[in-house]
Amino acid sequence: MLIVMKADATDAQVAEVVRVIEELGYRAHPLPGATRTAIGITGNQGAVDVSRFENLAGVAEAIRVSKPYKLITLDLRPEKTVVRVGDASIGGDELAIIAGPCAVESRAQAFSVAEAVRRSGARFFRGGAFKPRTSPYAFQGLGEEGLKILAEVREVYGLKIVTEALDEAGVDMVERYGDVIQIGARNMQNFSLLKRAGRSPLPVLLKRGLSATLDEWLLAAEYVMSEGNYNVVLCERGIRTFAQHTRNTLDLAAIPAVRRISHLPVIVDPSHGTGKNYMVNPLARAGVAVGADGLIIEVHDQPERALSDGAQALTIEQYEQLVNEVRAIHEVIAPTPVG
Ligand code: PEP
Ligand code: MN
Repeated sequence: MLIVMKADATDAQVAEVVRVIEELGYRAHPLPGATRTAIGITGNQGAVDVSRFENLAGVAEAIRVSKPYKLITLDLRPEKTVVRVGDASIGGDELAIIAGPCAVESRAQAFSVAEAVRRSGARFFRGGAFKPRTSPYAFQGLGEEGLKILAEVREVYGLKIVTEALDEAGVDMVERYGDVIQIGARNMQNFSLLKRAGRSPLPVLLKRGLSATLDEWLLAAEYVMSEGNYNVVLCERGIRTFAQHTRNTLDLAAIPAVRRISHLPVIVDPSHGTGKNYMVNPLARAGVAVGADGLIIEVHDQPERALSDGAQALTIEQYEQLVNEVRAIHEVIAPTPVG
């Protein structure tokens, strides 16, 4: 059930609807929009009684939702969500660029990449302190020491920090040092992690699972939102297919597919999406051309020495060229209409 308030509904009227929803034992999710506030209802097992709401002051209509998702949908919020991270944002008019190494390896490495990221005008720095590696013997990240380096990068360069939490304790730590919680492909259906991130004050960057359908991915976002955190950014990072010429198959059709259903911003990760240095730039350009709200790019000052994902890391020069090219493309494409 979804309660759409009249355009001129007052805050007190919204609060009264929320009170009634909670009195019935459900959870209310008021999402203010450009023209009206809509209130999603979750926590109900069966149908909610429409008549309970129709006559409340300020209510335009009560709509039954038959789809599996309630909060990510354009029915709840017809205009795009802009996820604000301090004075930066993802989903607004500006193309969001998140760049940095796969893993924080040292202060010197993080700083030399961050300097280039800052110079490029990007607002976000990425870098893993906890790495989800296929092998337990591969570099696992610097842990809290890595987060401390990221916090220094934030301080020195004014960049917002996007970094992965592998588990619930990791979310506590990212909250202490970072700005955006990344949930990786391998954890897209780690439901306790999603719920914990849903109770965080920080925005969540939710990567698509290695073989997740669109519905599974959107329902993972729904998990985060159902706990009250509405600042979710979706990230297409490639899925597993039979193709062997790339690490993953970057599913760029997912961008318009998400757009048709959801108000959430969606970005593209051409680094993990291809796994190959020479493919990152062309697929980044394509991602912007299909309407992505941003890109997340792996950059290393010495890719040949990277402790993880070196094959897909851009050099600083390659990264600078990419930024110039994707900005030019972003400028010529009009905002993608919804639907
Ligand atoms: C990463 O961003 O370095 C990463 C591990 O990504 P993914 O979860 O998409 O594999
Ligand atoms: Mn990586």
